[in-house]
Amino acid sequence: MADLIAAAAAAGVERMVTIGCGREQSEQAVALAEAHPQVYAAVGVHPVDAGRGRWHDSDIDWIRDLAQHDKVVAIGEAGLDHFHERDTPDDQPRAFRAQGMLAAELGLPLVIHTRDAADDTMVILRELGLAQVVLHCFSIPQHLDEAVARGWVMGIAGPVTFPKNVELREAVTRIPADRMMVETDAPYLAPVPMRGHRNQPAYVAHTLAHVAALRGEDVADLDRATSATAARVFGW
Ligand SMILES: [Zn+2]
Repeated sequence: MADLIAAAAAAGVERMVTIGCGREQSEQAVALAEAHPQVYAAVGVHPVDAGRGRWHDSDIDWIRDLAQHDKVVAIGEAGLDHFHERDTPDDQPRAFRAQGMLAAELGLPLVIHTRDAADDTMVILRELGLAQVVLHCFSIPQHLDEAVARGWVMGIAGPVTFPKNVELREAVTRIPADRMMVETDAPYLAPVPMRGHRNQPAYVAHTLAHVAALRGEDVADLDRATSATAARVFGW
């Protein structure tokens, strides 16, 4: 981890959020955040880890306890993933709603994972009515206008650098600068030109440069804007 943080620092990445996708990983995320000043944590149960009967309503208790830690800046990832879990219609929404209500209770942003489930995710998000939502690895450009209108923040990851993602690449030109962050989703989804490699925080610089080019903006200006948005969203 220290080498990844050093590489990130060398690439100009000053702060990062590591995410737990279940109890053990969430505890590890908090431990990493404790050990490294640049690292912050999000804690929760990912929809893929909630499915197939693995979510229990009492899980919200350990999430609430972990979230008391100073360096926990968000709840999540929570949401829906129909790509990985088609046969457990109830677990994912229960985990999603419970974590959404906890985020509201604690005044923390909810980090959303959604895959092949855009419309169903939007239904639950509207119902939750949260003020602070991060659409992590933003992939639902068809809902961008509503997301902006509701005050949500888009996390832009490596897929924006893939030429085939025409709609996403167009959408990032329309996101207000104060509603956008850049992220890696490491170790997945490495951006061009690192595609095919194991992703790491340092590579977010490539994503930032791509987004700046798509928007016709100066990289340093977009760096400042996305960093300011992250500071506002995560409260650091
Ligand atoms: Zn995700």
